[in-house]
Formats: sequence, structure tokens, C-alpha cells
Amino acid sequence: MGIKFAHTPSAGLDEGIQKTKPRGMAMIPTYVTAVPNGTEKGLFLAVDLGGTNFRVCSIQLHGNSTFTLTQSKVAIPQELMVAPTTSKQLFAFLAKQIESFLRTHHNDHFELRRRKSLSGEAGEHTFKLGFTFSFPVDQVGINKGYLIRWTKGYDLKDAIGKDICALLQDEIDALGLPVRVAALVNDTVGTLMARSYTSPGKTGTLLGGIFGTGTNGAYVENLSKIAKMSEYTEAEYDKSTGEMIVNTEWGGFDNALQVLPNSPYDEGLDKGSVNPGMQMFEKRVSGMFLGEILRRAILALVNSPEAQLFKDETSSSNDIGSTTCIADDSPLYSIWGIDTSFLSMVQGDTDTNWRITRQALDKELGVSAPSTEDARAVKALVTAIGKRSARLGAMAIGAVILATNRLGGKPTDAQSKEGTDALPAASATDEESIVDIGLDGSLVEYFPRFEDYMREALREIPGIGEEGEKRIRFGIAKDGSGVGAALVALTAVN
Ligand code: ADP
Ligand code: MG
Repeated sequence: MGIKFAHTPSAGLDEGIQKTKPRGMAMIPTYVTAVPNGTEKGLFLAVDLGGTNFRVCSIQLHGNSTFTLTQSKVAIPQELMVAPTTSKQLFAFLAKQIESFLRTHHNDHFELRRRKSLSGEAGEHTFKLGFTFSFPVDQVGINKGYLIRWTKGYDLKDAIGKDICALLQDEIDALGLPVRVAALVNDTVGTLMARSYTSPGKTGTLLGGIFGTGTNGAYVENLSKIAKMSEYTEAEYDKSTGEMIVNTEWGGFDNALQVLPNSPYDEGLDKGSVNPGMQMFEKRVSGMFLGEILRRAILALVNSPEAQLFKDETSSSNDIGSTTCIADDSPLYSIWGIDTSFLSMVQGDTDTNWRITRQALDKELGVSAPSTEDARAVKALVTAIGKRSARLGAMAIGAVILATNRLGGKPTDAQSKEGTDALPAASATDEESIVDIGLDGSLVEYFPRFEDYMREALREIPGIGEEGEKRIRFGIAKDGSGVGAALVALTAVN
């Protein structure tokens, strides 16, 4: 692939698990030391504080790889996200949602557990809760993590540096709810856990990957390889499995752009973003950005005198202003104007007359009477952008597979040799030889051929190849954040 190994993600993974402050990916220890195999049972609670919504759910694990999920969702009122609101008020609001969820969906259970816990008989009568929290946290234990900073519009300064599990537990206790915050869970970890529970066979899942608003992955690593664990002296966790899930934060891979492709559209997007120079991998891969890359690429063509895109052939070509067919208020002229769902729609257009694409150009982008050539050009851009995203995503996945040596063969072969002759041949149906991977996010779910493009790229990676790619099994982890958080709460030893 023409990339020096020192710059590949595999090397980045290795650096990150050794250093507490790596230059590249953060590689955060999660204190989750085992993945489920589908036989787990019980009733658990899970909450998810993402950007705009707060989700509360209960998950009944049936112990046969299936589960029943009940959930409610409320939008967080804007005024609770910023001063003069205090974090106490926000978390009190969250605790109230948990209470009303329990009263609505588990009232019998709730009253029973409540009476027992009031009479001091808590223990087994307490609901264990998994808390999915997608903001940067310095996690020091399975249910302990200090907030580093808020993102996504939140700004409650008094919470910075505080243990967010304790903030939630305090408000739960104030309401007298029989609920214990047992685990703090990153959404990628939830994806990995959920897939491992639901996947066929007994083989545990290696990796959970998200290709949604952002992109990130978490995987199972040998505890002995995570050298930096020795610096987390405060932490308590189960060391007996010899493994721990690591949250890679691969969205921050190669911010120095040593190997990532860099087009003028990537550069423009980065300059116009809230965090220039950061999350450079994510900015080429995830749903939040692909629409904006397309918008910039389209505009460049529209502004190029040589290109015919969206030009009105009947008018004079030296009068640029009046020759395009784009409405003045077209989303093409506003930053972040195109949603990635537009790309999925175009990518899925198989009509010989490009009916869907032309209609979408007209309705969504304000381009009047687009020609079939216009549609064909936009489709070419969409495919290039989506394919690049999928191939880069495959590189991150491939790096984890190689770094953990899950395909067998000598790890050094994977780094230095082209081809796959070092791999033991195995049939794709041989459960033992399968490398199972859980995926979540709108891109994998809705962008047509995303998985095909990833597989194409995996076959080209030295050390994986045709044989290795056949042994990689992808599965969508539906409702990953709820089920995954419940599973982490279950495995939490506290
Ligand atoms: P999240 O990552 O926030 O949990 P999703 O996985 O649903 O949520 O991803 C949301 C992102 O996916 C947004 O950036 C949105 O633009 C993009 N998106 C929404 N619908 C589609 C679609 N049909 N195809 C591709 N991307 C989509
Ligand atoms: Mg998600």
C-alpha cells in the first residue's frame, strides 16, 4: 500500500496503549475485562446521554443471545445545557426521568425493590444501571470517570473534573431510587458488548466500530500489552481474564496527516470546523463530514470555467453568474448544507435515467432541471467520497485485526510481507477461525455498498488478503448503546 509501517494505525495502536499521553490515538482503558457470550441473563437499566436526547431503557437478557428492550427518550431542554443551570440541576432532571421510566414500565418491581432498599435490604434488589456518556472522560474505574470537557453545545462549568457517575448517583439517591450506577460506558464499548452477546456461536467479538455522526472503535486487548495501566494506581478492576477492552478514539488517527489523503475539500472543511487539526481521520470518514466534502467538491466544479456541472447550455458561457441552474438560497452555498443521507440516496440510485438523483438535486439542493450528465457527475463524486470513507474505515479495522494477531500467522509477517501466505487457510464456516466484528451507525446501515468497499480494502491489506477477509464477519449491533451498557453493568464486579 506504499505506507511505511511506522505510520500505520497498527503502530499507532501500540504507541497508544503504552503511553498515558500518546501523540496519536488516545487508546483509553475501559476497565471492561470480558466480553459476553450470549448466555448472560437478568434485568438491567441503561441510560444514554448523547448530544440532544436522554434515553432510558431496561433490558431483559434472556440468556440465549436474545433480549427484550423497553425504552423512552426525552429531549434535553436547551436551558439545562448551559449556565445558570448547575450540573446538579441537569443530573436531577436525568434522575427524574429514570424514576418516571421505572414507574411506567416496571412499577411492581420498582415498588418491591424500593421497599426492600428502604428497609436496608438493598443488594440484589437494586437495579444495576449502565451509563452511556459520549463526552470526553478520564475514566479511572468501571463506574468512575472525571469529565474532561463538554462538547455538543453543553457548558456546565462546575461539572468539569467531577466524577459524572457520582453526580448521577447523588441525584438518584436523593429520590430514593433503588438504582446503582454500576458502569460508565463509551458507545463503542457498548457496540462491542452488544454484538458479542447477540453474535452467533461462542466466539467473542473482537471489535466494535461506529460509523455514524463520528467514527471510533473499541477492541479486546491483552492486559499485559496495556503498559500504561500501571500508571492508573487508583483503579480497581478484575485482572483474572488477562484482557481489557480499549477505546481507541481512532477518529484522532494521524492528525499530522503523514499518511491520510488530503484534498482541497478536506482542507477547506477542516479550516471551517470548530476543531481545526483535530479528528483528521474522523473528518474523512464519518457521517457528520461526508456531506460537507461533497458540497465543497461540487462547488469547485461549479466554479471551474472548464467544467459543465449545473451549467445552462443555452446561455452564453462567459457570463458565469447567470449560467448556473442553482438557486441563490441553495444549501450548496451554506456550510454543512448537505446531509450524508443525500449521499446514500444518490449512491442507491440505479435508475437508468437518474430519476432519484435528479429529483434530489432539484428538491434538496435547489438545482433546476439537472441533466443526466449532472447526475452522473454527482454520483461519481458521491461514490468516491463514500468509498474513500469505507476504505479508510477498513484500514482502522484491519489495523486492529493485525495488531491483535487474530488471523494467526506470525505478527511480523503482517508488517513486512506482502500477501497472505503466512495465514493458515480456513473455511469461512469454521466458527473457531472467524473474527467477529460489531458495527453501528448510519453509514454502515444506509450507505449502499459500504461493507463491500470495506471488504475490498481488507483484501488488499498485506497480512489479511483474500483468505483473511473471508474469515472476518461483520454484524450490525442494533440498540448497541442500551444492550451494551446493560452488559457492562452486568459484568461490573462492584
Ligand atoms: P449517532 O452517531 O449520533 O449515534 P447515527 O449513527 O444515526 O447517530 O449517525 C448520524 C449521522 O449519520 C449524521 O451525521 C447524519 O448526517 C448521518 N446520516 C443520517 N441518515 C443517513 C443515511 N441515510 N445515510 C448515511 N448517513 C446518514
Ligand atoms: Mg450511535
